[in-house]
Amino acid sequence: MSANLLKETGPREVFCGLTSIVWLHRRMPDAFFLVVGSRTCAHLIQSAAGVMIFAEPRFGTAILSERDLAGLADAHEELDRVCCELLQRRPEIRTLFLVGSCPSEVIKLDLARAAERLNEELQGRVRVVNYSGSGIETTFTQGEDGALAALVPLLPASDERQLLLVGTLADAVEDRLIHLFGRLGISTIRSLPPRQSTELPAVGPGTTVLLTQPFLTETARLLKHRGATVLTAPFPLGAEGSRRWMEAGAAAFHLPKERVAEVLDPLEERARIALRPHREVLEGKRIFLLPESQLELPLARFLQRECGMELVEVGTPYLNRDQMAEELALLPEGTRVMEGQHVEQQLDRVREHKPDLVVCGMGLANPLEAEGIATKWSIELVFSPIHGIDQAGDLAELFSRPLRRRQLIHPGLHPINPDQPVHA
Ligand code: SF4
Repeated sequence: MSANLLKETGPREVFCGLTSIVWLHRRMPDAFFLVVGSRTCAHLIQSAAGVMIFAEPRFGTAILSERDLAGLADAHEELDRVCCELLQRRPEIRTLFLVGSCPSEVIKLDLARAAERLNEELQGRVRVVNYSGSGIETTFTQGEDGALAALVPLLPASDERQLLLVGTLADAVEDRLIHLFGRLGISTIRSLPPRQSTELPAVGPGTTVLLTQPFLTETARLLKHRGATVLTAPFPLGAEGSRRWMEAGAAAFHLPKERVAEVLDPLEERARIALRPHREVLEGKRIFLLPESQLELPLARFLQRECGMELVEVGTPYLNRDQMAEELALLPEGTRVMEGQHVEQQLDRVREHKPDLVVCGMGLANPLEAEGIATKWSIELVFSPIHGIDQAGDLAELFSRPLRRRQLIHPGLHPINPDQPVHA
């Protein structure tokens, strides 16, 4: 492994773990996410999830008032009352996630105890679990890790030989991956999180885990503890990463290499064709990835190896060296990989190097655009269906689009073919 691994600490500019409620509540429609927090927390998830006027939302905030924060009211009593009212009003809820926040952390509100007490009262009618989405402890994708880690102790035990895909994917993407694994010869494939919160997959020594997302460190640790084998492989972003990820799964089930090639070769060929117009735009362009989603390493590997981009710096909020070993090994010699954040210093380096494109959080994108630097929101990558060989072209387009748009607005900037379609 030849990347240049560096560390930095200081002021951070990232979303907190509450943000992951936005995709988790869509995944499990029978679950409800109750943030125990302040009005700020409520504003964050309302604006991140959009205004849900026509639907009954599956998330909400139990607002800690000044009296709670000052310790004048019994916050546990209040929380019990809010949960009971919610569950009476919404009998379809099967799992209630109590989600901790900065304010609940600061007043040391014990949500594990609250969940235990509510589980006793509800006697199995609704399952109550808790995790933290606090910005003191988490960046936004770690919220999903916390939610899934909270489910692991509840998974039934089983010795059955199976492949477990861990991490939220768009349903259509997941269906496609399951179909492809089926064609390779793996018949029992389950998912965590499941599509219904009550249909938790079993786990045990026969379980082989493939993580679909790189930010599930704690969940992976707990699954190993339950006897599962967690594979290390490049993550399924881009044609190459997705292929190697599927090959790792196939090898764990001792499937013949010829069958794997028979299924995956034509898909890889199609992906290369889909990538071509985007590679024309991206090749030779310089990209700087600021740390936010933990998807930065796999994205950098894809953009460098399959799209020909030059990596100025690859930031990541945390670096799990074991799980990321294969990704690191695929980066070019000497790539600057920066774990952690000192946002001021990172912005200075962005200005110094003048990259063609910066991947960053929404809060940094507008100021950088105003300075003439093209940006891509990292949160968009978490919401978009980008996993798998079939999605490689769409993934590349997410990066070529801002450069093409910029070229159309400022024709002197980059030599990009004006005949190519623009999807604004
Ligand atoms: S959890 Fe913390 S960082 Fe997140 S919205 Fe609430 S107060 Fe802000």
